[in-house]
Amino acid sequence: MQAEPQSFDRVLSSMCTEPHPVARDAAERFLATNPGDPGTYPAVAALEDDAIAMLGEIADLDEPAGYVASGGTEANIQAVRIARERCEADTPNVVMPESGHFSFRKAADVLGVELRIVPTDDDYRVDLDAVRACVDEETALVIGVAGTTEYGRVDPIPELGSIAREVDAMFHVDAAWGGFVLPFTDYEWNFAHAPVDTMAIDPHKMGQAAVPAGGLLVRSAGLLDELAVSTPYLESTSQATLTGTRSGAGVASAVAAMEELWPAGYRSQYVRSRNNAEWLADALEKRGYEVVDPALPLVAADVPRSTFDALRARGWRISRTGSGELRIVCMPHVSREMLASFIGDLDRLEVRASVPIAGDD
Ligand code: PLP
Repeated sequence: MQAEPQSFDRVLSSMCTEPHPVARDAAERFLATNPGDPGTYPAVAALEDDAIAMLGEIADLDEPAGYVASGGTEANIQAVRIARERCEADTPNVVMPESGHFSFRKAADVLGVELRIVPTDDDYRVDLDAVRACVDEETALVIGVAGTTEYGRVDPIPELGSIAREVDAMFHVDAAWGGFVLPFTDYEWNFAHAPVDTMAIDPHKMGQAAVPAGGLLVRSAGLLDELAVSTPYLESTSQATLTGTRSGAGVASAVAAMEELWPAGYRSQYVRSRNNAEWLADALEKRGYEVVDPALPLVAADVPRSTFDALRARGWRISRTGSGELRIVCMPHVSREMLASFIGDLDRLEVRASVPIAGDD
């Protein structure tokens, strides 16, 4: 096999990044281990306990419980599953902002729950009145997003938690992307800030671990019982994960990255990413584009479709929001030099677009 993976030097749309060198090394060492079978692979199973302890520290969860999932999608599906199992309603529903990740659509589909989507406000955060109007006695779960995929917004987590409690529903926070930057902000998003029952928080995004390393945290270990099935041919007695065989590489790299970077390394990375996002937002604004103010290190701007396509043709890996804005995620591999080079290409395209074509009047 001759193929090489692509380099990250033009990747501006991904929510994953180059693993930290210690995470890459740990992933390689634990490649042939399976935390899904802890009786056979006890070393990686012990590392998974460490991973959950550290994720709990990051999310301010006393007595942390959970597991290292394949990603935010699995963590979100499992959170919906726990809530559905706990709910006694005949036709349980789940209430989520329109900014929620599409993984919840998969969850609703496979779990047979009704997904109720509520609008966001002018600042792309969930409209609390709409949530209040939407929940009822059959609501199994209310979802808040702490770091939305398209605009990097943080929903009002304490208020959402109160609404969930008022109707006896569970409360899930999707911090899959935001969880490794929010500890360094003033946002209220974690288990200490609100009655959060479950949380998605992914080491393989801002945590700089190798893929696959997602995180599911639960407020108390008993919640995992809702997911557990017995495992007759294994030496362990039950399994709460959605997948069976899992990558020990993800678990080991998550621990290695967190041991190396929490908290000082993640803090300085957050500051660097935030400064890059502000620089980029400013550069785009100066060129006349309408920019969504970056609350977290993610910039969205109203760049015409033709310009977007021309930038992609130049090799820039960029993406668009559902409303069509250019969207750039300032992940750890995104340097100021990359962004300056991107803006340079944008300028060259704009100059070309403004040069009158011969014969035009
Ligand atoms: N939740 C949020 C907020 C996300 O941004 C994403 C992906 O970007 C996910 C969940 C899904 O994560 P994954 O792709 O790791 O399954």
